Formats: sequence, structure tokens, C-alpha cells
Amino acid sequence: MVLSTLIYIALVIIVIIIIVVLLRFLFNALFAIFTIMSTENRCEHYARTNEDVNPKTEGCEECQVEGTNWVALRMCLTCGHVGCCDSSLGLHATKHYKETSHPVMVALPSKQWRWCYLHKEYS
Ligand SMILES: [Zn+2]
Ligand SMILES: [Zn+2]
Ligand SMILES: [Zn+2]
Repeated sequence: MVLSTLIYIALVIIVIIIIVVLLRFLFNALFAIFTIMSTENRCEHYARTNEDVNPKTEGCEECQVEGTNWVALRMCLTCGHVGCCDSSLGLHATKHYKETSHPVMVALPSKQWRWCYLHKEYS
């Protein structure tokens, strides 16, 4: 009687271990699929941009023409256009993206982060 109870408990433990292993396998497979999907959706624009692009102007190109002030500057990494940020009245960096579809800009003068307008993603 005691022996059969022990075998029963051992069987239950083995079944639990099998279930845990299967669940882990399933979880890993789902995680792998998710990773592949998210890398497919990731922005490739940063890889294609040229870090050596030189700014065309010292300040915001349009603000200098219009005589308005800006808060911060963004440079287009496709053509070097310098525009003002979204906290500025002119919104010229965003306008430049809408007009040209150049996707990636970098913060000036620090160049600490880049932003892809298409994927709405920092890098
Ligand atoms: Zn992108
Ligand atoms: Zn501007
Ligand atoms: Zn541009």
C-alpha cells in the first residue's frame, strides 16, 4: 500500500515535470517568433543614414529666413537640412520630413539621439 502510494506520487511528479518542460518549450518558441516579428518591424533607416552628413546651415534654415527663434535644432541625416524641433514655433524639422520624406533626424549639436519619423522610434 505504501509502495503504490509512493509510485503514484512519483508518477504525479514526473507528469508535472513533463508539463513544465513542455510549457517552457512552448514559451521559448513563442518568444522566438515574437523576436523575429519585432526585428522585422524594426527601423532600418538608422543603418542606412550617413553619420558624416554636414549641416547645411548653422541654425534652422527656415527660421533664419523668417526671422523667428527656435528652441532646439534637428538635422536631417539624409540631406543635412537643419530645422527646429517640435517645441519651436516653426516645427521646421517635422515640416522638412513631410515635404521630403527623409526619415531620420539627429539632435543638434549633441547628436546624442536620432529619431525616425516613419517608425516613431528613438535610437
Ligand atoms: Zn525608420
Ligand atoms: Zn525653424
Ligand atoms: Zn532632408
